[in-house]
Amino acid sequence: AFAVPGDKDAVKAADRAHVFHSWSAQGRIDPLAVAGAEGAYFWDYDGNRYLDFSSQLVNTNIGHQHPKVVAAIQEQAGRLCTLAPGFAVDVRSEAARLIAARTPGDLDRIFFTNGGAEAIENAVRMARVHTGRPKVMAAYRSYHGATAAAINLTGEPRRWASDTGTAGVVRFFGPHLYRSHFHATTEAEECARALEHLEQTILFEGPHTLAAVVLETIVGTAGVLMPPEGYLAGVREICDRHGILLVLDEVMAGFGRTGTWFAADLYDVVPDLLTFAKGVNSGYVPLGGVAISQAVAATFDDRPYPGGLTYSGHPLACASAVATLNAMAEEGIVENAARIGEDVLGPGLREIAARHPSVGEVRGTGVFWALDLVRDRETREPLVPYNASGDAAKPMNDFAAACKTRGLWPFVNMNRTHVVPPCTVTESEAKEGLAVLDEALSAADAHTTD
Ligand code: PLP
Repeated sequence: AFAVPGDKDAVKAADRAHVFHSWSAQGRIDPLAVAGAEGAYFWDYDGNRYLDFSSQLVNTNIGHQHPKVVAAIQEQAGRLCTLAPGFAVDVRSEAARLIAARTPGDLDRIFFTNGGAEAIENAVRMARVHTGRPKVMAAYRSYHGATAAAINLTGEPRRWASDTGTAGVVRFFGPHLYRSHFHATTEAEECARALEHLEQTILFEGPHTLAAVVLETIVGTAGVLMPPEGYLAGVREICDRHGILLVLDEVMAGFGRTGTWFAADLYDVVPDLLTFAKGVNSGYVPLGGVAISQAVAATFDDRPYPGGLTYSGHPLACASAVATLNAMAEEGIVENAARIGEDVLGPGLREIAARHPSVGEVRGTGVFWALDLVRDRETREPLVPYNASGDAAKPMNDFAAACKTRGLWPFVNMNRTHVVPPCTVTESEAKEGLAVLDEALSAADAHTTD
């Protein structure tokens, strides 16, 4: 039923001989050879089709091969493939204008990068130069990318191997009631104590040494953690009182995933800098960036910005962003994400949770959900230990394998599975995925103490 170009064995052989893969022990991986993709599905060379409940790396917000975006890239390629960042280019101007129109508050100037990590690098640089302060704060439960400052800001274990300790990063715990670090029993208590902890950390570090607090508006890879009501407003207020900038990282949460254009829209909070990538053009061509407030931008009115990239504002990437943002608006894609979350995924996941002892908590919004899997609902002991690998990770590996044999590609991180399909996912596709999750969770239930 699907077009199958190339030769699977040749693709695999060259991959194993020459492609060096991210985050992997090269001798221990067996990458699936993918023959094609469309919408919410991709397929291999043997006729197996997968419903992509991970949106690749949570980036294909408009699904694969959206015809309007493909056409825009083809048209731009025929017109002008590349141009240095020093020139004004129609598609670059238009992409910046469209992004600025969607970002909250006065974040009206856009610095383009090739992806999320570079966006973080540049947001941190802007904050340091703007404030003249050296240090930056970030949450333990976070992922901000794999380049120098970005990996040091990252709190989760992927940081450890690159943790030079020289990047001037100060870490703190954000709110997470289900696994509260603050012995809280209500969201309001968790929120108040997390804010108190943040402010204490700031006072002990010396506010005059802190350039920025960098936060994922909704923590993505580290757990889909929705901040309690009042937390982000509280962080904003603390930052303002101490002259510290607030950087919201919306690389994963932005551009429709939450059922709003940005997660910040859900909380009515305006940062000084906002980083984006992924959903801005669904990753059809690498693109990310920083949306900059008037005040931070003004710092660089008469003083050169000390940063740049050969491909900043690449025409093919910008053309794909213009087409993506227009398609999202014309086709009501953000509204679809909100409706699917409210009517299908939210109720469906809660129903599934009630049937499976391995599901400890369901949390999320839009097409941005997590199931926190546990060995024991009472103790909330995670189904696998923090950063488990090998045999210790077996329960999660069994679950993932059970999904894949049933045609669902899951997102799995530690003891969680995230339910993050494209924002374009239909009701029937979402239900198809939920039915597979329901069956596959039996593999996780087998490892519970129940
Ligand atoms: N920030 C967040 C919140 C992310 O989720 C990611 C990637 O998953 C990044 C930054 C890094 O983006 P990239 O992989 O494009 O460098």
